[in-house]
Amino acid sequence: MSTNPPSTSSGKKRILTGDTPTSTGLHLGHYVGSLENRLKLQDEYDCYFLIANVHAFTTLAEKPADIRANTLGIVKDWLAVGLDPQRSTFVLQSEIPAIAELTFLFAMLIPFNKVMRNPTLKTEIETKGLGDSYPFGFPMYAVGQCADILTFRPELVPVGEDQEAHIEMCRDVALKFNQVYCGVGNRVPADEHEKAGGVFPVPKAKIGRIARLVGTDGKNKMSKSLNNAIFLYDDAKAVQKKINGIKTDRPTITSPLPEGNALAQYIDAFLPQQRAEEIKAMYASGKEVMDGHIKAEVGAAINALIEPMRARRAELETPTGEEKVLGVIRDGIRKANAVAEETLHLAKKAMGLDFGKRVVG
Ligand code: ATP
Ligand code: MG
Repeated sequence: MSTNPPSTSSGKKRILTGDTPTSTGLHLGHYVGSLENRLKLQDEYDCYFLIANVHAFTTLAEKPADIRANTLGIVKDWLAVGLDPQRSTFVLQSEIPAIAELTFLFAMLIPFNKVMRNPTLKTEIETKGLGDSYPFGFPMYAVGQCADILTFRPELVPVGEDQEAHIEMCRDVALKFNQVYCGVGNRVPADEHEKAGGVFPVPKAKIGRIARLVGTDGKNKMSKSLNNAIFLYDDAKAVQKKINGIKTDRPTITSPLPEGNALAQYIDAFLPQQRAEEIKAMYASGKEVMDGHIKAEVGAAINALIEPMRARRAELETPTGEEKVLGVIRDGIRKANAVAEETLHLAKKAMGLDFGKRVVG
């Protein structure tokens, strides 16, 4: 039997997920991949939403002012979308020392070559054009993300498909930690680790309604860093312009819409199901279909979805709004550190690293 305080002390199971401040805000991929789930689960779970501002330095180390502005931007979008700092905890990664400590300790439990083979890292190196000059800290972020997650001992991690490899690595770390330092047997199933005395629950990914929303380039996943995103704060004209720019690659107006085309995915993602089926049937029938009409309809649906978010974000783009955002961040740091320090204490105790409460300074 476990002697650890359960990770569910409020009676609710926990969720941890987050975003990296590599851009001034969030896009439609975040919405369908993760934000929708966060909104749905906000009452049922004890939620921790992390801004990975330290990890933003893996690609933007020379632009600290941008990272700071982006951090505020992401929190503004969270508030605009409806994440509620009263019900959930907003976690600023750089102010949670337990995450940094656990990152180093977890790095001993993951083979180096396994990190370097991580398919998500490989894709990022390729699509972001990082070549072979990325910093040592870049692959380290995959280990850091295990610490981001496990620090909050969550049960679920709502993410897009691109994060599956990271969650798998995180599960491996939790299993290994529990086996090596908490005496949990090799045959204990993952979801019984905590009950068997493990410090860490072995968390599961919860993939969103759309696992991977393609970008307006029609090739890569929609991404903050790839210039192919429709942002939640884009104005109505900008949204329509980006939709109009999608290439459908139809030789004639009676040709079908190629499978996997960005417009085809957006029709499914943003139009009511029945209308989406009608449009797809029209494209498949060989009748004349003008892409421009469909693009106008999809653009209007996206604008209707994001209009209230856009308006709420605009309200936060004022000095008072900025103060509110900073207040939310400060409150979150306090709440998050209470949980993070508890986890760190449990982990260090299991590792024989408990030498009494430390006083720094
Ligand atoms: P970057 O280009 O800096 O990596 P990003 O656009 O990939 O940024 P992240 O902050 O890395 O955004 O991801 C935040 C969350 O949103 C993750 O859970 C990720 O899986 C999800 N997500 C991001 N892009 C998409 C997408 N296109 N489709 C579905 N989910 C997505
Ligand atoms: Mg990403």
